[in-house]
Amino acid sequence: MPQCLFCSIISREVNATIVYEDDRVVAFNDINPQAPTHVLVVPRRHIATLNDLTEEDDQIVGEVVRRAALIAKSKSVSASGFRTVFNTNREAGQTVFHIHLHLLGGRTLHWPPG
Ligand code: 5GP
Ligand code: ZN
Repeated sequence: MPQCLFCSIISREVNATIVYEDDRVVAFNDINPQAPTHVLVVPRRHIATLNDLTEEDDQIVGEVVRRAALIAKSKSVSASGFRTVFNTNREAGQTVFHIHLHLLGGRTLHWPPG
């Protein structure tokens, strides 16, 4: 999927500050952070949106979520609190069509999000 920005980050064709990677999951700082901690956690394998998930993806989605919690801990925002968000499609504001879990923390986050 060479036209996908996050696939290009994963393959190191596009620069990003990678904060974690393993065989299946990559995490990097958001280029336009909305909080002191703003990390995007993605599967290496291209999946466009949550609407495209199948039963086979249950494991990777679990890994992405658990990794976000571990990164939150490493960034010392676990106890104070953090938010994890998957945006899906236009009305939710999805702009990159490779699923990514936003991890936001380090400040008070308001609810509802607007
Ligand atoms: P979405 O709006 O799809 O939920 O989130 C996409 C996120 O990707 C946005 O928060 C945006 O700031 C981030 N982003 C867009 N382009 C780049 C880039 O080139 N590098 C990085 N690190 N983040 C990006
Ligand atoms: Zn992709």
